[in-house]
Amino acid sequence: MHILVTNDDGVHAPGLSALVQAVRPLGEVTVLAPDRNWSASGHVKTLDRPLRVKETELADGTPAYACDGAPSDCVALPLLGIFPYAIDLVLSGINPNANLGHDVTYSGTVTAAMEAVIGGVPGIAISLDSPVGLRGVPDFRAAAGTARQVTALVIRNGLPEGVLLNVNVPYGPPEQVKGFQLTRQGMRVYRDQLEKRLDPRGRAYFWIGGEAPTGVEEDGTDIGALAAGYVSVTPLHLDLTAHDSSAHFQTWNWQEE
Ligand code: MN
Repeated sequence: MHILVTNDDGVHAPGLSALVQAVRPLGEVTVLAPDRNWSASGHVKTLDRPLRVKETELADGTPAYACDGAPSDCVALPLLGIFPYAIDLVLSGINPNANLGHDVTYSGTVTAAMEAVIGGVPGIAISLDSPVGLRGVPDFRAAAGTARQVTALVIRNGLPEGVLLNVNVPYGPPEQVKGFQLTRQGMRVYRDQLEKRLDPRGRAYFWIGGEAPTGVEEDGTDIGALAAGYVSVTPLHLDLTAHDSSAHFQTWNWQEE
């Protein structure tokens, strides 16, 4: 079992080394992650410039590779064969913030696991629901233990073809986690606000500002599970087809325009 570990926070992020330590007993681990923070970078394929991979090491001395590409590039390269061995499973995380509802297509953490699916390998994204405004290194123990459990289950049972797992862990000590809930994507409430400012030469520039997103705490959803103290496990696929909308489009006269 050869496990690739990546993330979107950069190869030296503490959540990545927590994940590596958690899953090391389960197989051979290769670490290849971005050389900088790509959070909220979405699903990227770098085609217009060369990608470089450099040897580095984690804080605990674990050998690792840093790449100047996006998280999804860090998955594509090994699945396309840059190493002399095959990758059997891709883990992405541990992101220090939750990836819920509509976050999944923004998320570098989740889109790295999506890239695994495109490469025909099971992928798991792991995120920790740290409190807004938390200072210092989050307590990754609960998320690390959860990552090991879910990874062992995926190694034992496999994932259906084309399916990845988006795992979100409530914040707190491991003994406070109530268990697992299989969920669907909930409804994120984004509170983005436009900040328009002027640069020193009087030209306008923009920030997407505002408060951190909240969400609707509905039972059965990722947001509801976290709010109730459970680990949320959401099976995702890349088919975004709006199947329920076909009745609407069948009423259109497609010959008319
Ligand atoms: Mn991140």
